Amino acid sequence: MFGNPIAHSKSPEIHAAYAAQTGQALRYEKRLAPLDGFAAAVHAFIAEGGKGANVTVPFKLEAVKVANALTIRAQAAGAVNTLHFTEDGIIGDNTDGAGLVADIVVNAGVAITGQRVLLLGAGGAARGVVLPILEHRPAQLVIANRTVATAVALAEQFAALGGEGVVSGCGFADIEGGFDIVINATSASLGAEVPPVSPSVFAPGALAFDMMYSKSPTVFLQFAAQHGARLRDGLGMLVEQAAEAFSVWRGVRPVTGEVLQQLRDQL
Ligand code: NDP
Repeated sequence: MFGNPIAHSKSPEIHAAYAAQTGQALRYEKRLAPLDGFAAAVHAFIAEGGKGANVTVPFKLEAVKVANALTIRAQAAGAVNTLHFTEDGIIGDNTDGAGLVADIVVNAGVAITGQRVLLLGAGGAARGVVLPILEHRPAQLVIANRTVATAVALAEQFAALGGEGVVSGCGFADIEGGFDIVINATSASLGAEVPPVSPSVFAPGALAFDMMYSKSPTVFLQFAAQHGARLRDGLGMLVEQAAEAFSVWRGVRPVTGEVLQQLRDQL
């Protein structure tokens, strides 16, 4: 796992658990790459015999350039969180969106198909989840962002894929109606802020999802709870994106429930 900073990463623990569960021999370590030395760090790792790596902040965009080829989902995300070193070169992949969707559909048991989905934010994390969400054919996907033009541009990029009238972009104040799934992909929770949306965005029985996770509910999830939503934080997404990366490298997808519970207990 390459990042800077990297000390906080839970990924070594997660992948060690997956390796034990699936009987795979795997060594997975944190590597602090210098801010100006990401590509060199990757190539040094390959020379050591590395088979694959995860990439986190701030290298997810640079990892696109390090890759010789991208998967469709990495290309759609415009960012890479998983590198696979193969005979054909370095393949850049992105498992964040698949992780989010698996956590919503499988772990939370909430279908996306035919539902109204609101995505708050249009940064790297939001960009990565649009394609995997659209693959489930929601009735509507509204992308709302503080900088309106970024939301509109992101919606335009995916308009054809979503089908007529399905994907749209707007500002927080222009969101209309209620949604079955509301995903907070802004970094507002880091500063204990809630994106300024009306409580009416939560349709009765809505699922509120925050990509952030912490011991106690984020301010966004507290706000959602006050308005009757069911809550889900980003810990499941973290565990699922790791499972997806593991299956890219090893061809076997680990079971995630126990690992998610262990991490939850440690928060
Ligand atoms: P970016 O910096 O790329 O984007 C930040 C986004 O948040 C932008 O849309 C920005 O709007 C918006 N924003 C920032 N501050 C505020 C605010 N105060 N009010 C409203 N909107 C705000 O970050 P990322 O997309 O990479 O990450 C977003 C979050 O997702 C982070 O908290 C990150 O930790 C989390 N994440 C979780 C993962 C998981 O596995 N659980 C995986 C990946 C990310 P604007 O365009 O106007 O600046």
